[in-house]
Amino acid sequence: MTITGKQLIGGEWTQGEAGSFHGANPQNGQKLQPAISTASSRQVEAAVRMAEAASKKFRHTSPSIRAAFLRNCAEQIMALGDELLERLSAETGYPRGRAEMERGRTCGQLRMFADYIETGAHLDARIDTALPERQPFPRPDLRHLNQPIGPVVVFGASNFPLAFSVAGGDTASALAAGCPVIVKGHPSHPGTSELVAQAIAKAVTQADLPRGVFSYLIDEGHTVGALLVKAPAVRAVGFTGSFAGGTALMALANERPDPIPVFAEMGSSNPIFLLPQALQQNGANIAQGFVGSFTLGSGQFCVKPGLLIAVDGEPLQAFIATAKKLVEEIPAPVMLNDRICQTFQRSMSSRSSDAGLEVVAQGKPLHDVDGYFAQVTLFTTSAQTILEHPELMEETFGPASVIIKCRDREEMLKVARRLPGQLTATVQCITDELAEYGELLDQLAETAGRVVVNGFPTGVEVCHSMVHGGPFPATSDRRFTSVGTNAILRFLRPVCYQNYPEALLPPALRNNNPLGIPRLINGVRTSEALK
Ligand code: NAP
Repeated sequence: MTITGKQLIGGEWTQGEAGSFHGANPQNGQKLQPAISTASSRQVEAAVRMAEAASKKFRHTSPSIRAAFLRNCAEQIMALGDELLERLSAETGYPRGRAEMERGRTCGQLRMFADYIETGAHLDARIDTALPERQPFPRPDLRHLNQPIGPVVVFGASNFPLAFSVAGGDTASALAAGCPVIVKGHPSHPGTSELVAQAIAKAVTQADLPRGVFSYLIDEGHTVGALLVKAPAVRAVGFTGSFAGGTALMALANERPDPIPVFAEMGSSNPIFLLPQALQQNGANIAQGFVGSFTLGSGQFCVKPGLLIAVDGEPLQAFIATAKKLVEEIPAPVMLNDRICQTFQRSMSSRSSDAGLEVVAQGKPLHDVDGYFAQVTLFTTSAQTILEHPELMEETFGPASVIIKCRDREEMLKVARRLPGQLTATVQCITDELAEYGELLDQLAETAGRVVVNGFPTGVEVCHSMVHGGPFPATSDRRFTSVGTNAILRFLRPVCYQNYPEALLPPALRNNNPLGIPRLINGVRTSEALK
């Protein structure tokens, strides 16, 4: 495939009408070819119009048609072969292994949603049959079904150029639900994004779906994104990125005459609570796991552990000494782009001069090169400082973390109570000591979307049970996840059909159950037809 730098508007690749920019290789800062054209407001409107028109037909496609389409999207992405992997590495600095891992995850995710919608579980079909003789009032026939919400705008994330981008979890779950998708590509990896958009466009054509089911637009600024969020036909937004970006999009969505949901995943600090017996018995191993986890992928994961909380004393001093040695051996890692690199450097200089935060270890110094490299940094501070300056608990995106030293268990609990909403919270412990920390575990389940025991938060499994979500500011809506099959619920809305003629009901609600799916009939779960 050739990267053209064009926009995909309802099946047509066209030159963007609002200027152009170039991607860059973060290893050396050099421009990547070709120039990427950017979409005009007229082109945004055209994509939205096509999505609106496509929605009318796409929402009625059967789960099996959409499942076949999603599986073919995965096949078409695989068919891009080395070109995709090489471009991804050139645009992100990620090594080949990471590129392959992300491609596997992305295709696996598409196939997982295909399998899932074929079960009909997402539809939550329910039937309460009529009770005409009921006293004092008869009950009408009532049937409940989850329906696609309508056109969805997806913002590609900088740090997951495949798995949270053009064909990532937001797109896969929205298409699985039956919603057309318009992707606003991330300018940090435009070539990778276009290649994946080409793969999806091919799958749309081969499935003979309406062309507006998928469009791909890009710019290097906020214009296209803002226009998409404000477009009247758009019904929901999926976003992974910064707090500033997520909240700006939420504000735009709320200013609409008909506000729409913005499902924004905005990252978190992912605290690790290291309990005393585990620290005493297993400190060196945990230090190794912790340093590995906060520096993985240059620390550019929303589940990077940015805080570690433990009671101070000799075992913690030994833990810090081990972590320090490990950190000092780490070469300066490459960051995704100039902006992310500069934000990280600024945050490191301001944190280094913050009273109360002490730099205990730094990785190998920066290369004297043109690329976007950072220096791994480990801080320590006291719980008292954190409690007085809770802003120090905010996420820094990159290879840095803070060890918080507490006086005792009570102070550890105080820190836990002050934590803002998190994607994850972890406890490293000896199982027996958990009995004394019931309150901590309970607090963490209130604060985080995923509570990890004796593991590390990096490595988000894509499966049915995963929750990649959490209370604000980790996300905009604590009730949902952006990873795993439940991510589809963001793009569905329940509709109740009352006294509807059988022939006009959606197939999932008809008496003979033509889809053969499980349904809740008068309170009983069954896949049987309704007699
Ligand atoms: P970002 O700045 O939030 O941008 C993400 C996407 O949203 C980009 O396409 C961006 O467009 C768009 N956008 C941002 N603000 C917007 C606004 N006000 N109106 C319309 N569109 C807007 O995130 P990023 O570029 O990925 O990285 C920047 C920072 O985000 C990082 O330093 C890190 O702190 C955080 N981050 C968090 C996560 C996470 O997992 N939660 C992931 C990646 C990054 P343009 O790029 O075209 O401006």
